[in-house]
Amino acid sequence: MKNKTETTKAKELKSIFSAAETAFTGFSKTSISKRIQLLTNLQKVIAARQSEIAARIHAAVGKNETEALLTEVLPTLAFIKDYRRNLPKYLKKDKVAIPFAFFGIKAQTELRPAGVALIISPWNFPFYLAMAPLITAVSAGNTAILKPSEASPDIGTLCAELFAKAGFPKNTVQIAYGKGDVANSLIYMKPSRIFFTGSTAVGRLIGKAAGELIIPCLLELGGKSPMLVFADCNPERAANAAVFGAFCNSGQVCVAASRIYVADKIYDDFVANVLEKTLALPKEDLGKIVQPQHTAYLESLIADALQKGAKQLCGRLDGKSFSPVILADTKENMQIMQAETFGPVMAIARFSGKDKDALALANNSDYGLSASVFTKKPTRAARIAASINAGNININDVIQSVGIPELPFGGIKQSGIGRYHGKRGLEFFSDEVSIASSCQLFPSAMTWLPYGSSLKRHLENIIGGLYGSGSKLALIKSSLALFLRNFRE
Ligand code: NAD
Repeated sequence: MKNKTETTKAKELKSIFSAAETAFTGFSKTSISKRIQLLTNLQKVIAARQSEIAARIHAAVGKNETEALLTEVLPTLAFIKDYRRNLPKYLKKDKVAIPFAFFGIKAQTELRPAGVALIISPWNFPFYLAMAPLITAVSAGNTAILKPSEASPDIGTLCAELFAKAGFPKNTVQIAYGKGDVANSLIYMKPSRIFFTGSTAVGRLIGKAAGELIIPCLLELGGKSPMLVFADCNPERAANAAVFGAFCNSGQVCVAASRIYVADKIYDDFVANVLEKTLALPKEDLGKIVQPQHTAYLESLIADALQKGAKQLCGRLDGKSFSPVILADTKENMQIMQAETFGPVMAIARFSGKDKDALALANNSDYGLSASVFTKKPTRAARIAASINAGNININDVIQSVGIPELPFGGIKQSGIGRYHGKRGLEFFSDEVSIASSCQLFPSAMTWLPYGSSLKRHLENIIGGLYGSGSKLALIKSSLALFLRNFRE
């Protein structure tokens, strides 16, 4: 297993980068059917090694192995399946309609492999959040360098092993180990794409460097996702969702339900129900707080909330182990309702039950990654969803939309820039090239010089007829006259 202090040296980084560039010249030419074959192999390798993968994730970050299968292995396989099935459709050249003045031109766009992709990943879903962008990058015909989190280097090693075992050519996927300085050195080697998943603070630095170097970058950042629970919801489902939404992966989930707003009418019952379910959670389901220094931060959020009037109903954090914390009666002026929690602390607040109050609370955040709405009324759900400022919205559900491979994923506001999954991910990892091809049989084109004395009048007739209230007969006559200009010697 990789040592967590392992750092790839500067000289080695250079050779990794140049190997990725060399590998790109060959790999970018692989046919789509060959890429699908490689993805099929990768799927088989992962399925065959699923238990080992779950065990290695558990060893790296303490995640329960069932949860590792559920939230890392399964979505990775679904991701591969989508590209295996849909790659030809996603990468198909797209023909576009052309306006009249460009008669005779055929126009289309195509997605071309971009080059070397740099993927910088976090530790909270160390497998899925590395594999998903890696799979997208190579499906688009790129080579990739992964800089896994320094907290989970072994999962980086594992990813490279799986691609190699599946038969991807040498150096298609390589790993560079270390902290931010390693990622930074790679950024300044000018990869063709930077795909970053991590905190908003680091995302801002990466966006700045990418801007300076003019490198397209996709930023998947932090969140403070609201869960709105209306009085007309299925209360049992909402309570179970709150427990999963707040405590899955010990709350270390970018789309965790980290502030729960419950309608006044059902508030007391909801809180009692959630407390009972939380107290009944088996300890082994919960994993661990991966960054020990994070406990002090969580304690400061709890202290601030208690000092401002919240009630702690259960739980404790003591660095090595924890039991999930529930804070009730939280208010907007508490840090726990504003700052990213990223730990096993659920914050529940009461609201009036009115749509407009729910929306005002949901949107009272600098983040905009995800949100969820619990109500039995589809019209209310649709109305609320339409006005929440978040990139991903679950109705009568939490978190799950992130695992749907064809559903674009990404944040708004401070939660990120760009979308991936399905075709959107391939577009990010590709250079989109537009090609306009004219009929070479005509000696000229109707728009070319010289303009001549009649062109102005014909254009006026065409503009009036096509876009205004001009005569249709004049439009047809002038269109014909314009068309004949193609035959000028
Ligand atoms: P982090 O920002 O500390 O680190 C993420 C990656 O960036 C790591 O590989 C790290 O080594 C690297 N890094 C750190 N400093 C850097 C620098 N100065 N320059 C370049 N790279 C640098 O995040 P983390 O603690 O690993 O993960 C938790 C954060 O990630 C949370 O904020 C969470 O919300 C976010 N996250 C977002 C998503 C999403 O899809 N939006 C998914 C998972 C996690």
